[in-house]
Amino acid sequence: MIKTRICAECEQQLNIVVTALRQHQADIHTGLKLNVEGRLTEESRHMLAPEAVESFNATRVSWDAYCQHLDEHGLLKPALQGKTAD
Ligand SMILES: [Zn+2]
Repeated sequence: MIKTRICAECEQQLNIVVTALRQHQADIHTGLKLNVEGRLTEESRHMLAPEAVESFNATRVSWDAYCQHLDEHGLLKPALQGKTAD
């Protein structure tokens, strides 16, 4: 068995990201579908937008937490090495 630098928490964090992203996708899909069908009204847009923003923010927060967890494993450091501030 090879040594790994990931753990069960990594998978749990990733699952949270995926769930949040799927919710955001569903929120966006609803608005896009109504728009394509010509049924998107200003009222429905005002009803859908807060949920889409909320799910977007939840996705971003969960992604940031996942990145922080990976960074704690030292997994993101190689990607940051060699980059210069041009
Ligand atoms: Zn982990």
